[in-house]
Amino acid sequence: MPHYICTTCGVQFSATAEPPEHCLICEDERQYVNPTGQTWITLAELRADHTNSFKPQEPNLIGIGTEPTFAIGQRALLVQRPEGNVLWDCISLIDQATIDQIQALGGLSAIAISHPHFYSGMVEWSHAFGGVPIYLHAANRKWVMRPDPVIVYWDSPTYSLGRGLTLINGGGHFPGSAILHWADGAEGRGVLLSGDTIFVVPDTRYVTFMYSYPNFIPLPAPAVERIVQAVEPFAYDRIYSIWFDRVVTADAKGAVARSKARYLRAISEGFAS
Ligand SMILES: [Zn+2]
Ligand SMILES: [Zn+2]
Repeated sequence: MPHYICTTCGVQFSATAEPPEHCLICEDERQYVNPTGQTWITLAELRADHTNSFKPQEPNLIGIGTEPTFAIGQRALLVQRPEGNVLWDCISLIDQATIDQIQALGGLSAIAISHPHFYSGMVEWSHAFGGVPIYLHAANRKWVMRPDPVIVYWDSPTYSLGRGLTLINGGGHFPGSAILHWADGAEGRGVLLSGDTIFVVPDTRYVTFMYSYPNFIPLPAPAVERIVQAVEPFAYDRIYSIWFDRVVTADAKGAVARSKARYLRAISEGFAS
């Protein structure tokens, strides 16, 4: 039986004879059901006309995205380190060419994911690399559409993935929304891989913090404060958000501070003109 994949959010479901009736992730108000109707694809069908491309971002960080764009246009980030490579966030497509390329880069020791919009093909990816653990925050457990023993739920403000990598629960977009702090990134100044807990906007001197990005539903002030406080103890100078072009390349801590101030002003007194 195939593991059907939702074409709108890219999540892969447990095996069923027929496509599922609903995609719970898309029916949630943080996402949307395709206006032309819910549609599904199998991994074999996805492999037939899509490929993954690898794009170096900085030393020891490689972006992996699918072409042509599929679902939300997710891209994963491979953090390379001597203790074992970690895949941050995930995409729906995994094929032999991708497996070979990652093995040539040192393989994969773990997967960690920011939130349900990136659960995508996580179990398929784990199994392709011998069942490496997938680290998810426990508060997002109900959004796992393909449960599997490889999933490790963490439930604490932070969770260490070994030297230099720390998962941070920021909440906001989802209760279990996570950010990965990579201490060695940005030439040792530190990097946040923020998913869309902290979302880099087109003016990349700024970020934003939303309950729903496609539906433009903001967060209340306490939730924004909580996200910023969660990352405050960590040194970072750069932020990689969810797409290839959404990167704060420098002074990311300043970008978060001025973006928080602008956001809180917008949802309280607003702007004069
Ligand atoms: Zn979906
Ligand atoms: Zn999201």
